[in-house]
Amino acid sequence: MSKAPYPNHFIRAMTSNDLKNGKHDYIYTRFPPEPNGYLHLGHAKSICLNFGLAEHLGGKCNLRFDDTNPEKESLEYMEAIRDSVAWLGFEWEKLCYASDYYDHLYGFALELIDKGLAYVDNLNAEQMREYRGTLTEVGKDSPNRDRAPAENRDLFERMRAGEFGEGAYTLRAKIDMGSPNISMRDPIIYRIRFAHHYRAGDKWCIYPMYDFTHCISDALEGITHSLCTLEFQDNRALYDWFLANITLEENLIGEKGKLMPRQIEFGRSNLEYTVASKRKLIQLVTQGHVNGWDDPRLTTLVGLRRRGYTPASIRNFCAEIGVTKKDSTIDMAVLENAIRQDLEASATRVFGVLKPLKLVITNYAEGESETFTVKNHPKDETMGTREIPFGREIYIDQDDFMLEPPADFFRLGPGREVRLRYGYAITCNEVIQDQHGNVVELHCTYDPLTAKGKTSDGRKIKGIIHWVSAAHAVDAQVRVYDRLYNEPNPGAAEDFISLINPESLQTFDNAKLEPSVLDASTDDRFQFERVGYFCFDSVDHCENKVVMNRTVSLRDTWAKRTV
Ligand code: ATP
Ligand code: MG
Repeated sequence: MSKAPYPNHFIRAMTSNDLKNGKHDYIYTRFPPEPNGYLHLGHAKSICLNFGLAEHLGGKCNLRFDDTNPEKESLEYMEAIRDSVAWLGFEWEKLCYASDYYDHLYGFALELIDKGLAYVDNLNAEQMREYRGTLTEVGKDSPNRDRAPAENRDLFERMRAGEFGEGAYTLRAKIDMGSPNISMRDPIIYRIRFAHHYRAGDKWCIYPMYDFTHCISDALEGITHSLCTLEFQDNRALYDWFLANITLEENLIGEKGKLMPRQIEFGRSNLEYTVASKRKLIQLVTQGHVNGWDDPRLTTLVGLRRRGYTPASIRNFCAEIGVTKKDSTIDMAVLENAIRQDLEASATRVFGVLKPLKLVITNYAEGESETFTVKNHPKDETMGTREIPFGREIYIDQDDFMLEPPADFFRLGPGREVRLRYGYAITCNEVIQDQHGNVVELHCTYDPLTAKGKTSDGRKIKGIIHWVSAAHAVDAQVRVYDRLYNEPNPGAAEDFISLINPESLQTFDNAKLEPSVLDASTDDRFQFERVGYFCFDSVDHCENKVVMNRTVSLRDTWAKRTV
């Protein structure tokens, strides 16, 4: 699939301007996930923005793990995030970890203490809240605010040495308890946590807070533009305050006297009918409501990948939704159209029957067979052709037959004629039913003069159905996914678990596929003609068992359902 042109947006305009007017010689961005869960489509927006912008402007972008909450983070999450960014097709300049800067951060904290710009406090969490004030009420100074720098230093060093319990002390920036911006009311910059860190191990029992860590990490890495989501708007003043009050002689790339990074906020995007918050995703996964982080019904990047989404389709989706100063909710159809467009152009066409109904062609000689040569793609000759075997017994889909078809049903019924796609016209003469009245087999005759779309007498045959030769069919399990939720905004509900769509996964255990699928490689994608787009399941598909996932239907069936 061709790559979409890089979209125009306000951050692109701003950064291009900074280059044009010489404020910066180059653009350096970063994507800074916290390794406390798997990435989802919302993160893809930020990835495409940060990496895409750098790519577009010939700059650089780091992948940095913002790992300052040891209790919630893990190596598993870190590795999964790293792999998803690489899968999307982006290359980082450097792979970084905020935890690698703990020594630097500690040094800068001491600098603030020595300058009288940070103090050790022993207010507990509840008192801290009380002293902080509200949007309409200014805060109150802590009684410890004027502690002398030497004493603060001593206490902070002892915090680090593990002399105090969790919650006994915090280190706070000394800014302004009367500020209208609550972020500036002496925020905590260090807290005591006796927690094992997945990278730093047990070296630390004090951990820096996000706001303090983030801006300094950006500055150390020589980041020029720090792009983050809107909820950090109020924290920008704090971002700038920390950088203005520390002394960074030289950053890690050895540059002196460089401009400090600039924070720019953009809106989050969330997809309808999904949940994206990591807390909710963790609940879905750990309580077993879905089958792991890569369940194809989730819009995690590993889930989308397993479902058959391509990196190009996700990048194009992100280009389509754009970047603005407002949070947005995106229609599921935008995502589905992105993958349809990609697969329409690139997927190999094959026949697959999900609900097989045996059909015997009684006037076709037993033991005989033939093959039809068909194109792998109707428009793309370069994708070549394949041979589809045909014989006396075939499978058609149960949905393509009706005992008492209404007038607008053009497929098979008793006494009716349809065309087998790429093959002959057949007429249904006999319907075999079991004792419950279920149709179990059809007996038909074929007209040998109707191969290749012709009829000998010029009669029109309206219905065309797909089929698979019974003697050559490959048995498969096919999984068809629907939205995980019937509600457009499940995340807003108290009990989002109870809103799960009970029909979000349908499994077809007796599917019959045309044999050419066995020649395919495991990451090939297919269009089952008339049915949808499919891929092999990356976890359960193996040599002895063909397992396929439906990526997306051929058309948007929800548009009809929801009006
Ligand atoms: P949580 O899901 O726990 O709220 P988070 O989404 O903020 O966490 P991070 O790991 O901090 O997760 O995200 C990394 C980056 O991705 C951040 O810069 C964040 O702003 C951005 N991001 C996360 N979700 C979205 C979203 N829905 N739309 C756009 N950007 C997002
Ligand atoms: Mg976050």
